[in-house]
Amino acid sequence: MVQGSVRVVQARRRQRQRRIERRVDARDPGPVDLDRQRRWIGIRIRIRIGIRIGIGIGIGIGIRIGIGLRIGGRVVTATVLDGKLVAALVKDEVRARTQALAARGVTVGLAVVLVGDDPASAVYVKAKTKDARECGIDATDHRLPADTSQAGLLALVARLGADPRVHGILVQLPLPKHFDTDAIIAAIPPHKDVDGLHPENLGRVAQGKPRFTACTPAGCMRLLAHGGVTVAGASAVVLGRSVLVGKPMALLLANADATVTLCHSKTRDLAERVAAADIVIAAVGRPELVRGAWIKPGAAVIDVGINRGADGKLIGDVEYAAAAARAGVITPVPGGVGPMTRACLLENTVRAAELTLG
Ligand code: NAP
Repeated sequence: MVQGSVRVVQARRRQRQRRIERRVDARDPGPVDLDRQRRWIGIRIRIRIGIRIGIGIGIGIGIRIGIGLRIGGRVVTATVLDGKLVAALVKDEVRARTQALAARGVTVGLAVVLVGDDPASAVYVKAKTKDARECGIDATDHRLPADTSQAGLLALVARLGADPRVHGILVQLPLPKHFDTDAIIAAIPPHKDVDGLHPENLGRVAQGKPRFTACTPAGCMRLLAHGGVTVAGASAVVLGRSVLVGKPMALLLANADATVTLCHSKTRDLAERVAAADIVIAAVGRPELVRGAWIKPGAAVIDVGINRGADGKLIGDVEYAAAAARAGVITPVPGGVGPMTRACLLENTVRAAELTLG
């Protein structure tokens, strides 16, 4: 009986020790960047009321009431960049610009083309047209069946390209597999390519003379600016090299004088590269690939990834909670980059209309 009781006490002691070690690990910010670190001096009052029933040599019942006081401590807590808030600011600007154009007799027009019945694409298209209309943009939906031919879609793009009431054309991606997506994008007149994916517009970004910037990277840059992140001179790591996100993102950061490393699935030493970065942009589409422990204390972390977790919830490419304990600023998923992508589409569209006035 006594031996059993001793074993229980020892097991409890080990459990308590493990709990303490876990808490210490969770709090330890590692090597701290003093420029970014927020010092925390706090007082924690803990009131414990418990009933203890124990069986040892005898049987005992006791009541424990304790008050603990702790002073001090250090945490690095990221500022969360609220994409919805920044997107709302962008939308206010867009609304003012559409009103100014309306005063000059121009109604901004956006044509949104959806081919097939992919449910996620349908949701995106609905949200984009709703946003546009809220900002005074005349958004029209063009829905085509999934078995539309390449020639059929090209014909619609040509018609919209020639329509003076349409300032921006957006073909929702991905297209069904039988389409040559590059050829469809190349058929959009560059001055109406508000998604910023036409080779001419991408090339202009590469030249540092952008006309329309791809919406997601543009949104990331706006978030960095809103977060007060100094890009010039910073060391930036972009994970993912897609034409949609990673490559234009790397170019925008380089144009803003960051020193950029573009990583992809063949990159070795990903953790070390991320750990050295002042700015991390994760756009890989792999849930929580970027571990919180990799993040340099005080770094800016922009999570582009949208993944579905095992519980059905949306999660990003970054291990959020652990990264937020080290980063200086961080975007959540959802509610970070996503709303900014949509807002930047509206900004490109109003710009397209403004450019027609010279
Ligand atoms: P993508 O075309 O599939 O490209 C993924 C990139 O990630 C590729 O360059 C790939 O490398 C790289 N990659 C994959 N696994 C990797 C690994 N283990 N380590 C390092 N790099 C790896 O995807 P995407 O269109 O760029 O989108 C990326 C993510 O962003 C997705 O989750 C997507 O849903 C999301 N997204 C969000 C928004 C938004 O508005 N929030 C907009 C667009 C995309 P390789 O080139 O070597 O294959």
